[in-house]
Amino acid sequence: MRKEWKYIVVGGGLCGLMVAYRLRGETLIIERKKRIGEPNHCGGVVSVDYERKLELGYVNTRKQNIYGFAIHTINGKKIEIETPKPCCIVIDRPSLDREIFRRISKDSEKTLEHGYVKEVVQDRGEVKIVLRDGETLRCERAIVGEGAQQVIRRKMGKGRLSAVPGVHMIVETKELDEHFNYLFLDERLSAHRLSYIISMGEDLYKIGVVDKGNIRKVVEKIAERYVRNYRLVGFEGGLVWLHGPLRMNFGRVYFVGDAAGHTKPTTGGGIVIGGIMSTQLAKNLNGEVVDKNEIRKIHNEILIMKFIRRILNKIDDYTLEKIVLNNKEELKKLLMEEYDWHGTTLLHFTTKAVRKGKLATFLLEAIKGIFKTR
Ligand SMILES: Cc1cc2nc3c(=O)[nH]c(=O)nc-3n(C[C@H](O)[C@H](O)[C@H](O)COP(=O)(O)OP(=O)(O)OC[C@H]3O[C@@H](n4cnc5c(N)ncnc54)[C@H](O)[C@@H]3O)c2cc1C
Repeated sequence: MRKEWKYIVVGGGLCGLMVAYRLRGETLIIERKKRIGEPNHCGGVVSVDYERKLELGYVNTRKQNIYGFAIHTINGKKIEIETPKPCCIVIDRPSLDREIFRRISKDSEKTLEHGYVKEVVQDRGEVKIVLRDGETLRCERAIVGEGAQQVIRRKMGKGRLSAVPGVHMIVETKELDEHFNYLFLDERLSAHRLSYIISMGEDLYKIGVVDKGNIRKVVEKIAERYVRNYRLVGFEGGLVWLHGPLRMNFGRVYFVGDAAGHTKPTTGGGIVIGGIMSTQLAKNLNGEVVDKNEIRKIHNEILIMKFIRRILNKIDDYTLEKIVLNNKEELKKLLMEEYDWHGTTLLHFTTKAVRKGKLATFLLEAIKGIFKTR
């Protein structure tokens, strides 16, 4: 393997690939998995216009249009919030990663090597990349897109082990409506209220739970209770980062994606946020004009969502049910407006609703949420 590079990208997941795709100059990507995109861990729910936001042009990854959410509440109610046009889509995430990699492969200056990076060390004006097999490579700058486990980040003393495990049970069934995604407002299923069903089209669904503990048992319980007749296709899973943004840059080492905390603390979604931030980093390294407004907007969004997550963790299931039941139209508007920047939209919607005197309980809980930690 060649020892000296301009850039080395650690991790060939979406964000590492997005940086490598945009970077100009000799770039080595080191990925520990044998095949790009697999095994998958991601739900693949993104905004309808994600390709535009990621500046990718057309990518053939769309599996299903989603026309709203069916929300199951603690009291056994099913509340359908249906939108007249798709509010989000479900994509095949491995295909997205492979498509970006396919584009990278056309560039003769870029190479992928299979390997496990043990350590990233700053060393007198360059960066040393130490592989598990003992080999050491050198580069001018390293970009670490290692995902939510943050092993390298923690080794550098810059991270913490606090991502939450998530599991998907993939089932085939005719019992569900493929135009909806499903949410369960039930703290007993997930303390983060992240228990859901994602429609993948062709009668396939991902039943998901993000939480500590035996979450495989919890997804099975959801399947038994809400789906009943199904064929088990398989399980997948990974770690979800819900704690907000982290510092991106330490000298010549840059972190992107989940490793930089670029996910929504509300849902854990990181494809769009992580992808945009990775593109902006590559432009910065290339010396191109960077969209500072976009970066600021995303940073603020993540912080607002972190605030919303804290509030959400405070409100009990019964209050949440009341909020959803009393505000179906507003929630529909919210879904229609903007899927990715839902922090800002939700904040506007809340202030408007509070002004109308409709959401006094929400405001009360919000104030409690700010001053207490779980
Ligand atoms: C259960 C679950 C459901 C999700 N659902 C959604 C969703 O519906 N919508 C959405 O937008 N987001 C979702 N996400 C989040 C999304 O998957 C992540 O934000 C996104 O994958 C981040 O990309 P990344 O490149 O930062 O990390 P990853 O995709 O995790 O890629 C990291 C890569 O680095 C490699 N790697 C790690 N360490 C090393 C090492 N030491 N040496 C070499 N290679 C290494 C890994 O093998 C991996 O390929 C979900 C996440 C989970 C866990």
